Amino acid sequence: MRIEAAIAYPESERFVLAPAELEEPREAEVMVRLVATGICHTDLKMLHTQGAVPRPIVLGHEGAGIVSKVGSRVTKVRPGDHVVMSINSCGHCGNCRQSMPSYCEDLFARNFGGTRPDGTTALSREGERLYGHFFGQSSFATYCIATERNVIPVPTDLPLETLAPLGCGIQTGAGAILNVLKPQSGSSIAIAGTGPVGLSAIMAAKLSGAITIVAVDTRDSRLEMALALGATHAVNPVGQDLAAAIHSACGPTDWALDTTGNVDVVNGLVAALNPRGTCGVVSNGRSATPINFHPLIFGGRSITGIAQGGADPDTFIPHMIALHREGKFPFDRMITPYAFRDLNKACDDAVSGKVLKPVVIF
Ligand SMILES: [Zn+2]
Ligand SMILES: [Zn+2]
Repeated sequence: MRIEAAIAYPESERFVLAPAELEEPREAEVMVRLVATGICHTDLKMLHTQGAVPRPIVLGHEGAGIVSKVGSRVTKVRPGDHVVMSINSCGHCGNCRQSMPSYCEDLFARNFGGTRPDGTTALSREGERLYGHFFGQSSFATYCIATERNVIPVPTDLPLETLAPLGCGIQTGAGAILNVLKPQSGSSIAIAGTGPVGLSAIMAAKLSGAITIVAVDTRDSRLEMALALGATHAVNPVGQDLAAAIHSACGPTDWALDTTGNVDVVNGLVAALNPRGTCGVVSNGRSATPINFHPLIFGGRSITGIAQGGADPDTFIPHMIALHREGKFPFDRMITPYAFRDLNKACDDAVSGKVLKPVVIF
């Protein structure tokens, strides 16, 4: 069927909005009419990094919409259901069978490969193949083909424009705290980077029982937002040693989370930890610089890599929605809506830091 899609062509750092063709869903696939899609850091990284994914490609991986068709073997959803889409996974490897799809052994191919596992794609334009299936969705389009595994049914009384970003960025930050680090009540945590992932982690830390929550960022306006969402201390480390700045604000911390991907920040967070403290790391950022073993890990400190908040989206997305309904997880305060035709402007505003979480509306 004819759809409208945002296409990233080779050598370009802008999306071209154009008509495209979308296949019918196969037996385990779901066709979704998009209502909204959040823009996540990974979309921007793929757009600005040539060679990271095959092109021309349709990106977008925080889609929310209404199921329009399902394949013959699909039982999880039916036409008319509201769904949020999240990461794709194989469903049969060891980690998938233990409800840990964010550590699926086939995660890279199924989210960044640009095709189905059999090498085909559901998208084309004027007879030429378009890569897609990005995070099992490619949701920068009016319709997409997802899989039964990566659509999560959501209540119909909440706006899909609000729920869209739960599928990746918000899950990544909140899940790192609630599923992986799990700070005990009375403990302290430092969270570096106050973009959507870091702010989601701060809101989750407030729910976890940590009583000292230190937000770290170099932008004072972001630190104000962090304080409004639950941080108890704000540290702007410009011109000073990060660990010393955290120590002077609140003393050593029990936990830390890096959302910047900056190796120096990770090392500063590790140096700020108490013995036996743990620093979670959610991204390797833009640099290929490896994180070296910080000598302080020999004091029982550890660094742990976390993908997608260690979440099983089938249970964690409904959990976040329940917290939101109770007024405990106001992630909607980060959202700025844009029309789909303004996708490039929304990306520019996310890169410049003018907005936190752009959500394009179809
Ligand atoms: Zn798997
Ligand atoms: Zn993402």
